Amino acid sequence: MSDNFFFADADSSYEDAIFIIFGAPFDYTSTYRKGSRLAPDIIREVSYSFETYNPFFNVDLCNVPMHDAGNIEISNNCTIEQAITVVGNMVRKVIAQGKIPIMLGGEHSLTLPCIRETKLRYHDLGAVVLDAHLDLLNDYSGERNSHACISRRIIEDVTDEYVSIGIRSGSRDEYSTAKTKNIIYYTADQIYDMGCDNVHTELSRYLNTRHLYLSLDMDVLDPSFAPALGTPEPFGLTDRQVLSFIRKLAPRTVGFDVVEIAPQYDSGNTALLGAKFIREFIAAVWAYKEQNPR
Ligand code: MN
Ligand code: MN
Repeated sequence: MSDNFFFADADSSYEDAIFIIFGAPFDYTSTYRKGSRLAPDIIREVSYSFETYNPFFNVDLCNVPMHDAGNIEISNNCTIEQAITVVGNMVRKVIAQGKIPIMLGGEHSLTLPCIRETKLRYHDLGAVVLDAHLDLLNDYSGERNSHACISRRIIEDVTDEYVSIGIRSGSRDEYSTAKTKNIIYYTADQIYDMGCDNVHTELSRYLNTRHLYLSLDMDVLDPSFAPALGTPEPFGLTDRQVLSFIRKLAPRTVGFDVVEIAPQYDSGNTALLGAKFIREFIAAVWAYKEQNPR
C-alpha cells in the first residue's frame, strides 16, 4: 500500500487514533464467487467520494482520530489457519490499547479471530451478525473455519450471547441446529413485518451485554442494493434497514467488520455502500462518545 492510499480521513497516527481500520484481503474458503480479497482496496478507493461531514450525527470525520493500518500480510496462498492467526495478532494489539478495530474483509471466516480477541478484553461481550445466511454448519467439506461455519464457531468457541439479523438461507440441518441450540435470529421477513425499531428493542432484551461486536456480512442486503457479493441471496434488507441497525447498535460496539464484498461483480456500488456504512458507524460511535465522555 502506498503511503497516501488510506481510507478517507483515516490519517491520524496509530498512537492517536481511536479507530483502527485494516484490510484482510483473503477469500480462500469462499464457496460460490471469490473476490472479497479485492474488496479492502476498492472500499478505500471509493471512500473518497463522500463529504467528510456527517449531518445526521453532526460529526466531521476529518476531526475524528482514525488510522488506516493498511492490509495485513496474508496472501491467498495462506491457509485459513494462518490468516486467522495474522488477523488475531492485529486485533489483539488494537483491542489491548482500547482502540476499536474495523476490518475490511475479506471473507466472513476472518470475523472469528476478531471477536475472539475482543472477547478476551471485554468479557461482557455480545455478538450481532447481519447476514442472509445462518452460517451454522459444523464444517463445510471438512473445513471448520469455512465462512459457512462462522456463526457456529462464534457461538461454540467465543460467546453464546449472539443474535443474527436478516436471515433467509440455510440448510434444513442449520435451521434445526438453530432450534435445538436456542439460537436467536431475526429473518428478513420478520424485519419487514416488525420494523427495525421493534426488532432492535426486542433484541436488546435478549442481548443486554455492555459491549457488542458487530459483523456486517454484506449479503444481508438485497442484491438490488448490493449486487457484488460472494453469495447473493434475494429478498434481503434495504440499505436503510442496515443503516438503522448500525446507528442503533454502534454506541455499544467495540469491534466492527464489513465482509464478503466481491467487487468485480459490479461497478463499485457495493463497495461504495460498504464504505458508507463504515463512515456511518464511526460517526455514530464518535457522536456517542462525545455526548457520554467517561
Ligand atoms: Mn456470512
Ligand atoms: Mn452471508
